[in-house]
Amino acid sequence: MTIGIDIDNTITKTKETIYEYLKKDYPQYEDYKLLPPKEYVKFLKKNLSKMRSKYELVAGVREAFNYFHENNDKIVIITARNNKYYHGSIKDTLAFLSQNNLKYDKIYFKQSKKGKKAYKENIDLFIDDKEQVLDNVSKYGIKCLCMNQSSKYPSFQNWYEILEYLKKEV
Ligand SMILES: [Mg+2]
Repeated sequence: MTIGIDIDNTITKTKETIYEYLKKDYPQYEDYKLLPPKEYVKFLKKNLSKMRSKYELVAGVREAFNYFHENNDKIVIITARNNKYYHGSIKDTLAFLSQNNLKYDKIYFKQSKKGKKAYKENIDLFIDDKEQVLDNVSKYGIKCLCMNQSSKYPSFQNWYEILEYLKKEV
């Protein structure tokens, strides 16, 4: 099986760290997505590199990657990450994955619409935290799991739950 996997809020606990930084710089905002566009860019340009180095892994992701490798599944990481907010973003992402010993077969950056890429890569199962992304991927007949609450897709809080589900369902 070929498994497509997102990074932010799927492999890493991205939101948690961003909210900590947001509280320091913009205590009046509860969500960074509510920042005015200029402030949003300023906030990310200032903090993204630092924040990324602090992201924790979603529980069980290492075990899941190990399980997929043992099972001879292929892992294709498909992320929207790009070098827009700071220049070393792609390089740092590769280093982060390697430091955390998360081995994958392929990685694609700058993917905002992930369905086409997932289809081209013959992905059987796609895991992302955004319903909107999963809607785009599932259009191609690819089975989708949501690392978040979802009424449309099987939804999970961590990778232990996903492993349990996959061992039963697939
Ligand atoms: Mg994500």
